[in-house]
Amino acid sequence: MSVLMMEKNIHQSTSMPRAWVEIDYSNLEHNLLQLHNILHKDTKVMAVVKADAYGHGMNKIALTLQNSGIDNFAVATLDEGILLRKCGISGSILILGYTDPVEVYALIKFDLIQTVVDLDYGQILNEYGESLKVHIKIDTGMNRLGETHYHFEFIEQIFELQNLNILGIYTHLCVSDSLKPDDIKFTENQINHFYDVIYKLKSIGYPIPKHHIQSSYGVLNYPQLKCDFARVGIALYGILSSNNDKTNIKADLRPVLSLKAKIALVKDIGIAESVGYGRQFISKTPMKIAVVTIGYADGIPRNLENGYVLLKGKKAPIIGRICMDQMTIDVTHIQEVKSGDIATIIGQDGMERITAEQVAENASTITNEILSRMGRRLEKIYL
Ligand SMILES: *Cc1c(COP(=O)(O)O)cnc(C)c1O
Repeated sequence: MSVLMMEKNIHQSTSMPRAWVEIDYSNLEHNLLQLHNILHKDTKVMAVVKADAYGHGMNKIALTLQNSGIDNFAVATLDEGILLRKCGISGSILILGYTDPVEVYALIKFDLIQTVVDLDYGQILNEYGESLKVHIKIDTGMNRLGETHYHFEFIEQIFELQNLNILGIYTHLCVSDSLKPDDIKFTENQINHFYDVIYKLKSIGYPIPKHHIQSSYGVLNYPQLKCDFARVGIALYGILSSNNDKTNIKADLRPVLSLKAKIALVKDIGIAESVGYGRQFISKTPMKIAVVTIGYADGIPRNLENGYVLLKGKKAPIIGRICMDQMTIDVTHIQEVKSGDIATIIGQDGMERITAEQVAENASTITNEILSRMGRRLEKIYL
């Protein structure tokens, strides 16, 4: 072997990540197909790729979706929109959140669509005297962003703003994940309030732009809606927000992301030894433990109590406090664990599988939070 090749090999072996996510594009494409099968034939998927595509890596996810025919994207912030444009996304990009009006020129330069969050905001944007692409958001009961549905005269005034190029109108559902009768009633009211606004606008002669209502749970629980777009995030990534969620449509969604990290070392400890900060864990028997090279700075919730990882196809409980860069697991029952072995925090190992939903449940949160907080230190490996 030449010196050059040896150097290359050494470099390759030392550049293996300590902790990483694996992204399975075939599952992304599978989920997209599933969603298209559920949606009305005229409803297009608007891919929600905010928060680094829920930790999956925004640019590559967006480019993959673009190759699969998606030409509508949604982000939360101006910066995310600019990044998307710079990485080669040519379709429309809607900013779902608030953007400081002084950024109007950036919105225009990068051909981004801004959400009008209420009449005041629309008026300020209009005063810049520049033609600006927007979607109008209508608040139908969530009481977050949007002009309130019963302030119809305000909504009308937004439609009169001459510099706003109104390409869309939308609302957001706040309990579409629930199948409790009261929550269904609330959601149906939200949908009705939204369509009332549209009918009123239509009846006084305004051309109706593209409209959209559903996010992932809206699609899975209210698939009959015939909107122009569905703003799909979490379902595209192949998971639900929580293990306990039941949905009307049982879609065959497949997780796109796995989370893995290496074992730094293995050590034996005796009875009544403590592990980690605060001496939180005390051994009751002699044990074999292993240090995993991932911690809360990488997005592992510090309260992942009762959590476990997979190693050599077996469950290995997390013990002691989770640190910034590392955590410790019990591997007493697992044979031949060694430095460099791979622990699976989310994903499949042999016959065992840990889902993001399970991790979220063990950390008393939802998968959306777990995924969107995946640390920047994690490398991304694309399968
Ligand atoms: C984040 C977001 C979505 C996507 O929600 P999912 O539940 O992940 O599908 C849709 N619409 C708005 C307004 C959002 O903020």
